[in-house]
Amino acid sequence: MAIQLFVPTFRVEECLSEIKECLEKGWTGMGFKTVDFENKWKEYTRHPNAHYLNSATAGLHLAVKILKEQLGWEDNDEIVTTPLTFVSTNHAILYENLKPVFSDIDEYLCLDPKDVESKITEKTKAIMFVGMGGNIGRYYDIANLCKKYNLKLILDAAHMSGSRYNGDIVGKEADVVVYSFQAVKNLPTGDSGMICFKDKTYDDLARKYAWLGINKDTYSRTDSKGNYKWEYNIDYLGYKYNGNSIMAAIGLVGLKYLDHDNAYRRQIATWYNDNFKEYADKIKTIPIPDNCESSQHLYIIEVNNRDELLEKLNENEIYPGVHYKNNIEYSLYDYAKGTCPNTDRISHRILSLPIHMRLTKATVDHVTETVIRFAK
Ligand SMILES: *Cc1c(COP(=O)(O)O)cnc(C)c1O
Repeated sequence: MAIQLFVPTFRVEECLSEIKECLEKGWTGMGFKTVDFENKWKEYTRHPNAHYLNSATAGLHLAVKILKEQLGWEDNDEIVTTPLTFVSTNHAILYENLKPVFSDIDEYLCLDPKDVESKITEKTKAIMFVGMGGNIGRYYDIANLCKKYNLKLILDAAHMSGSRYNGDIVGKEADVVVYSFQAVKNLPTGDSGMICFKDKTYDDLARKYAWLGINKDTYSRTDSKGNYKWEYNIDYLGYKYNGNSIMAAIGLVGLKYLDHDNAYRRQIATWYNDNFKEYADKIKTIPIPDNCESSQHLYIIEVNNRDELLEKLNENEIYPGVHYKNNIEYSLYDYAKGTCPNTDRISHRILSLPIHMRLTKATVDHVTETVIRFAK
């Protein structure tokens, strides 16, 4: 049987019963389950604000847009970011005519604070941190750099649903944290995301911008009988970025099991790590800092013959992935060629092994044996 990288697992009956409530009520859009999900997400994460969106890409865009507008950043101002990420991270910077300045990665595959500091200029306004695969890397050092240089911190937490440090959900230092509940993330829906601003006024803005700039408050206040309920004002050129109740229904069920599922992901990672221990000369595992409980959205190894190993694993019906292609190798971002030598090297050596709720110890052992056989 083929072994896939990701197989999202849903509690089908529970999801259907949540969705059924939406259908019976006749409310599948924004409101109802989306509000419930936002409240439960705030309770779970202890972030002060949360707004449910149709994707993390939308959330990253709003994060950059609102900070730029509110803080008076100018076109071509800079955000220091990672080249080892899904392109959404860096597209969000370009959407707002800012410049992604790429910094190199460390052994955690996350931003290297030393290199980040060397790339801060007069024009730098923020740092965009990605917790690769749920790993926090040197996130706290990056947060300290932001304090030292008075920069904003945006946390792309697309992989970090449920990631903890010393028992707490990560991200309280960040100005804004963005989660993804895309179809194959560790808390999957169909597509959706959450934006969590530290500042309440920015959260209010995010709500307006995510719904075409519609401001309901103005008119709903003017007539207590509700004669003007249908009418609203438009203060801003907003977007159609809001989440809906069907996706939220699936997310609500996923959230109930998030800690349980992440614990099993960490178990899988431990099995892999133990199996690879004796083969450190040819298979390098990615460390996780002390006191970090990773969501373990990904399990990544580093090998000398990545492309060949991928082929061999495919021949054996094992289908790993690569997270990610170095963004600087895309023509859109090739202005930064040569600025991140570690990423240039590591991005050709990494491989993401299957990790999902249906994997058994026996399957993990089979995958590791196959990897060990073909890694050089
Ligand atoms: C998946 C992902 C995104 C985008 O999430 P969507 O919800 O699909 O828009 C952004 N950043 C990273 C690191 C991701 O893995």
